[in-house]
Amino acid sequence: MAQHKVTLIPGDGIGVETSAAMRRVVEASGVDIVWDVAPAGAACVETHGTPLPRETIESVRRTKVAIKGPVATPVGTGFRSVNVALRKELDLYACLRPVRSLPGAGGRYDDVDLVIVRENSEDLYAGVEFEEGSEGARRLIELCEEEGAGSIRPDSGISIKSISVTASERIVRHAFEYALERGRKKVTAAHKANIMKHSDGLFLRVARDVAKEYEGRVAFDERIMDACCMNLVMDPTQFDVIVFPNLYGDLASDLAAGLVGGLGLAPGANVGEEYAVFEAVHGSAPDIAGQNKANPTAQIMSAAMMLDHLGETDAAARIRRAVCAVYAEGAHLTGDIRRASGSAGAPATCTEFTEALVAALD
Ligand code: NAD
Repeated sequence: MAQHKVTLIPGDGIGVETSAAMRRVVEASGVDIVWDVAPAGAACVETHGTPLPRETIESVRRTKVAIKGPVATPVGTGFRSVNVALRKELDLYACLRPVRSLPGAGGRYDDVDLVIVRENSEDLYAGVEFEEGSEGARRLIELCEEEGAGSIRPDSGISIKSISVTASERIVRHAFEYALERGRKKVTAAHKANIMKHSDGLFLRVARDVAKEYEGRVAFDERIMDACCMNLVMDPTQFDVIVFPNLYGDLASDLAAGLVGGLGLAPGANVGEEYAVFEAVHGSAPDIAGQNKANPTAQIMSAAMMLDHLGETDAAARIRRAVCAVYAEGAHLTGDIRRASGSAGAPATCTEFTEALVAALD
């Protein structure tokens, strides 16, 4: 049996609990993994003087594969997002988020099966910004006036939305290749090209061009982002693979998680040519952190994606079957799922849920 080296970044808040649960389930599945536990997040600012220590990035460069818990990012002030920095540092340009109904999990629908492919490297989400009143903001405001690009109030803070041909082409191609590999039938590109002609307009133009290369093999469809949100809520079954620029993909991920029972269930992967970092969609959930209430399903399903990536497809399938069995049986559901499904009974702790999952492994 092959031995794998994987970097484990527990992160902040409930990340510590969900990472321990994930590790317990992966180890119980019999896969041989040597974990290189590495720090990141708000908690490690005190110990390491930075939320993303060099040693953590170096660990991922060595192992090439990581699984991470969420990290808290201060709102408005403080350090920039560790996630954005990690994705940039390792060129993890594609974010893949499968969204599937899980019977017994209290989703709004029982037949959702779609995949969100989110561009991970640019757009407003890259955090290229000028503080209000700064020299940079002043020069940019002047330039907009000079170029006739439009007027910006002088007391504005400015975040830059840039979308390139390079990044759009590789993310749309990634979506089509993913669809081909998995036998999926359609890729939808979501955009606001009607309003932002030079950023989303470029994304759409590139998407249409790339789609032509796949004609006859994978269908192509396009949707304006606001309508896409309504369509997702009213009939998610019309979607298969949806490719988004960065920010819309971030928002649509939480919306889609809400369709199938909530953030506790939504797994994900950030991938590039060389490295892959697997992580749940949810954040550090400070409201329930340290209380053994977190639902570890999202991180455990992220681990199943990681096991597929490592070629351990049998263990990944066994973990997915065990997750389905625990939800179908319904005796060990965490509080978030009890609320979403309106099911009676005391909520299971994160530990109880995890042990039920281990017991259900075939
Ligand atoms: P959140 O996802 O942490 O929480 C939103 C709500 O969902 C909360 O009520 C929380 O209790 C619940 N929830 C989330 N995951 C859950 C789980 N596994 N089980 C049960 N309930 C769960 O979003 P937030 O409160 O907006 O963000 C908190 C922090 O997390 C912020 O600092 C934010 O920047 C960070 N964040 C990090 C990541 C990441 O590292 N990938 C992603 C999103 C948010």
